[in-house]
Amino acid sequence: MKKVQLYDTTLRDGMQAEGVSLATAGKLKLALKLDEFGVDYIEGGFAASNPKDMEFFAEIKKHHLKKSKIAAFGSTRRANTPIGEDKGTNQLIMADMPVATIFGKSWRLHVTSVLRTTENENLAMIKDTVRYFKVHGREVIYDAEHFFDGYKDSPEFAMRTIKAALDGGADAIVLCDTRGGCLPLEIFDITGAVKRVIPVTIGIHCHNDAEMAVANSIEAVRAGATQVQGTINGFGERCGNANLCAIIPNLKLKMGTEFNQCKDLKELTNISRFVDTLLNVVHDRRLAYVGASAFAHKAGMHVNAVEKTSESFEHIKPKEVGNERRILISELAGGSNVLLKAVQMGVEMSRNSPQVKEVLHHLEQLEKKGYEFEGADASFKILIQKVLKKHRSFFDLLGFRVIVEKRGKGELPRSEAIVKLKVGDDVEHRVAEGDGPVNALDNALRLALAKFYPLVAKVTLTDYHVRIIDPKEATAAKTRVIIESTDGEDTWGTVGVSENIIEASWEALVDSVEFKLFKDEEKAHRHKGAKAQKN
Ligand SMILES: [Zn+2]
Repeated sequence: MKKVQLYDTTLRDGMQAEGVSLATAGKLKLALKLDEFGVDYIEGGFAASNPKDMEFFAEIKKHHLKKSKIAAFGSTRRANTPIGEDKGTNQLIMADMPVATIFGKSWRLHVTSVLRTTENENLAMIKDTVRYFKVHGREVIYDAEHFFDGYKDSPEFAMRTIKAALDGGADAIVLCDTRGGCLPLEIFDITGAVKRVIPVTIGIHCHNDAEMAVANSIEAVRAGATQVQGTINGFGERCGNANLCAIIPNLKLKMGTEFNQCKDLKELTNISRFVDTLLNVVHDRRLAYVGASAFAHKAGMHVNAVEKTSESFEHIKPKEVGNERRILISELAGGSNVLLKAVQMGVEMSRNSPQVKEVLHHLEQLEKKGYEFEGADASFKILIQKVLKKHRSFFDLLGFRVIVEKRGKGELPRSEAIVKLKVGDDVEHRVAEGDGPVNALDNALRLALAKFYPLVAKVTLTDYHVRIIDPKEATAAKTRVIIESTDGEDTWGTVGVSENIIEASWEALVDSVEFKLFKDEEKAHRHKGAKAQKN
């Protein structure tokens, strides 16, 4: 079986997505990452449309790519224009990339109503443009825009357009479902019909308007396509492009397809998250294979089964795509989750111990009050420690005060916090400012603790979520705060709940600091233990 080429168009078609854009520096970063991963082609941009894309082409030339070829995207020449005088064509030549991806029309509707030219002129435009780039030494990929809709309208006409590209010397012909409305059975039949008469590489380019882009891409491969175009996480216009993060593992892990260069899928999750971060888009947890929830188990019985044999509820091993299994703690928990989570965190508990029941009981009570531990592992660990009577406070709060002051319309508000606490017999009383009240409180707390626990200075807050909740057992609305902290080595989440947002934040802050101190203590113990063993 022929190997499949991967063609990424995140930097071109992906950038058509609503609310998404990328500067040249970000584009370069992503291109280098895709090169490392082993994508065969990276479509860098639309040469004629955008100076930013031309800047990318100029910059990427300074880098040595190991595996990928950069493609510049452009259209066939304008109607009734000699190719040498066509502006878009000249821009695409100037982009000076090894691969030119040219799109042209395959649907009569577009020829007569959009281009407003004749069918014969359309064929000439395709052939001229492809040939021109071949003469100029480019590898030419011909994107047959709206091919499937065009074929459904007139197979004869649609076939003539790709034969024109073939006559021009195209190296690959890519069939596009540009409106994204076709179904897998149509894609399979039409791709098969093309494959039987076109001797060069056949590619597939799908959009997701009927939620079929991944399925359609796979059907095309089954029918003989050997190039798949798509974007990371399926970013793209309207409902998006075909999602490579699903297509790649489907082809490789489910169908045994070999790719030209991409051998190892372990970077896939990383690339998916990298693109979200780069585009400043909230990660979609439910993405197949690479989403944070893709291997997250909640209901007790499932967790019990996964613990016994992972394949019972996991269709692949999460590690194969660089993802990880997560056990979620919730009121649905059941003993299995608690146990598994505790073991994952290095807390020893046995299945039948009364403590498992007690943890469950506490969980239930807290969840009724509005707590949620799914994003707050560290608070959950502290809860277990409390049940096991292994918890101790590192300090006692004597009081805090938070002030927010705004002096007139144009002024930004100032925030200041005062924290008074006791460590052993020492009382510390500290004041700090911050961008906002929680930031000020965090600063004051860590300032007060610095003398006793210098390592808390290393902790920074990386994320702060607030949600107004409607707890099951209270009448007043409550606020749930989830904080994510890091010390550069680890990242952990903590939770606080109260009718008062500052109090909820304080709870989460205290858990965060205590978790850090426990963690360092445990580490010190382990070092001591290891040393003692050596001696
Ligand atoms: Zn497209």
